Amino acid sequence: MTDSTNPAPLGGLSISFAPDAPTPASGGPVSIADRPARTEAKVLIVGSGPAGLTAAIYAARANLEPIVIAGSAAGGQLMLTSDVENYPGFPDGIQGPELMAAFRAQAERFGTHIVDVDVERVDFTSRPFRLWARGVEYRAQAVIVATGASAMWLGLESETRLRGRGVSACATCDGFFFKDREIAVVGGGDTAFEEASYLTRFATKVHMLHRRDEFRASRIMVDRALANPKIEIHTNTGIDEVLGESKVEALALRDTVTGEARRMPVEGLFIAIGHRPNTEAFADVLEVDAKGYLVVTDETRSRIDGVFIAGDVHDHRYRQAITAAGDGCKAAIDAERWLEAQGITEANTLTAW
Ligand code: NDP
Repeated sequence: MTDSTNPAPLGGLSISFAPDAPTPASGGPVSIADRPARTEAKVLIVGSGPAGLTAAIYAARANLEPIVIAGSAAGGQLMLTSDVENYPGFPDGIQGPELMAAFRAQAERFGTHIVDVDVERVDFTSRPFRLWARGVEYRAQAVIVATGASAMWLGLESETRLRGRGVSACATCDGFFFKDREIAVVGGGDTAFEEASYLTRFATKVHMLHRRDEFRASRIMVDRALANPKIEIHTNTGIDEVLGESKVEALALRDTVTGEARRMPVEGLFIAIGHRPNTEAFADVLEVDAKGYLVVTDETRSRIDGVFIAGDVHDHRYRQAITAAGDGCKAAIDAERWLEAQGITEANTLTAW
């Protein structure tokens, strides 16, 4: 079973990832991956999911030689997904990690420098903008924030301890491991219903646990679940603990109205309680909405001139790889045109699109 918080290295494709401050190979041509680390760029992109890497492909093809600060868990949410069947161009589907490896190879092919570290702090008060990641200061004339969103967890110690041992936030990654088992899904939104329905392919029974008696999910999703004999819905049900030493054996549940406690024997628990935008380094300097997502104006602009935003870090509506990729493209074009308007780049780089 995969640990969805700590995805395995990109599989499928044979590509090299540029480490921070790599040593050039001795003899033979120096590949992009072997270039010395750079810390200054016209465009710096934070995030390496579909939005960030598409922005990198476009910026690189405009000769901007972007730096991507990819994050320590590079690749974004598709790294936690198995079959991707709705990304155009792959009639037979593609594995999420394989798709992200291809994005990355394409960005590197055109001169993107990628560093697999997390941005910890930024200073956008003057240009060049400054960003710090693992103690290194990076400088850029323009920045594209494409840090995405992460699955939310319940916050129980037992949930953390048993992650990858029966607790998962990704049905498509881990559903297969629960063939002929009885399992539970927590949440009352569309994601929970979608995951529960998917998991009935494998499990003998899927218990849906929701803390209230009303659902955020669309009516059609709820009706489908009610009609599915493998799904049993438990409303007003909270989880106190995940029980088991080395693997999930049961859940300690509590009725959220009466307070009554009970035990439910299951071998798996899927958490489907929503996502949180990854804004830690930016929330104090960029505008955020009531749900914590970054606010964009005019498609990709932030409230700071020269700082652009792309993908799920601002989009809680579509949240698709293809919409994030489209956003990354828009942000790169806007950043390039902005740099040109500042006189930092020349107009003819636009022909590179
Ligand atoms: P939502 O925010 O819609 O739902 C999250 C659910 O998790 C809510 O029922 C919430 O309960 C519950 N929850 C949150 N925190 C906790 C907690 N700590 N303990 C227990 N329960 C908790 O998130 P989704 O990921 O489901 O959906 C996000 C968006 O994506 C929505 O707009 C949705 O429509 C869309 N989407 C669409 C799909 C489709 O159309 N096929 C598929 C998947 C998502 P409560 O209701 O009490 O707050």
